[in-house]
Amino acid sequence: MQIIRSKRRSLAVEIHPERGLLVRAPLRMPQKDIDDFLHARRDWIDKHQARIAQERVARGPRNYEAGETFGYLGQQLTISLESGGARSRRPTTRREGDRLIITLNRAQALSAQERRADLQQSVVAFYRRAAQGDLPPRVAYFCDQLGLPMPAVTIAHQRRRWGSCSTRSGLRLNLRLLLCDEDLVDYVVAHEVCHLREMNHGPRFHHLLETLIPEARRLSRRLAQESERYRF
Ligand SMILES: [Zn+2]
Repeated sequence: MQIIRSKRRSLAVEIHPERGLLVRAPLRMPQKDIDDFLHARRDWIDKHQARIAQERVARGPRNYEAGETFGYLGQQLTISLESGGARSRRPTTRREGDRLIITLNRAQALSAQERRADLQQSVVAFYRRAAQGDLPPRVAYFCDQLGLPMPAVTIAHQRRRWGSCSTRSGLRLNLRLLLCDEDLVDYVVAHEVCHLREMNHGPRFHHLLETLIPEARRLSRRLAQESERYRF
């Protein structure tokens, strides 16, 4: 557990996918108050920690070894490793059919941790490039449906948010979306496109979204439940 004290007025507890239990507390709050708060929320904390652990198991380990699979818009891509002769330090990743081929270029000895970090970076770079090709046409499709002009689309690698929308800078979409199946991707893209017209989550927003994605509410719940699965 990690306690982060700051100039805030109330306590908040958060279960962070990588950092575990995070408690945000006011600067001078006594430890006893924090303990009481955690005690009162024990059930909630246990439930959410169990769910994160379950999703991790569903996803499987991520060691970037041959045979591991990564989702790609509902397909499964299986990692193959090959050694390449390039002098570049970094491994490179490309896709051939249902294989994700990682070429390892660096011959010198690496710790397991360095190797994993390099492989992960290379796979994320592949997904970033793929997202730049795959996501904007989906944005265009839903904008067309609503008669809206195509906004700018930025691809980002965010920990928590799947997408966001601003009238000034357009849509920002998480490249992790590509790990999900197409229903979830379309739900997120349509959701953000609807914000170009309705900048809130009021009844008109939901009505508009349901004209594009009738199952929006169910998909929104599913994404929240499964989100731990879709990580690198
Ligand atoms: Zn929204």
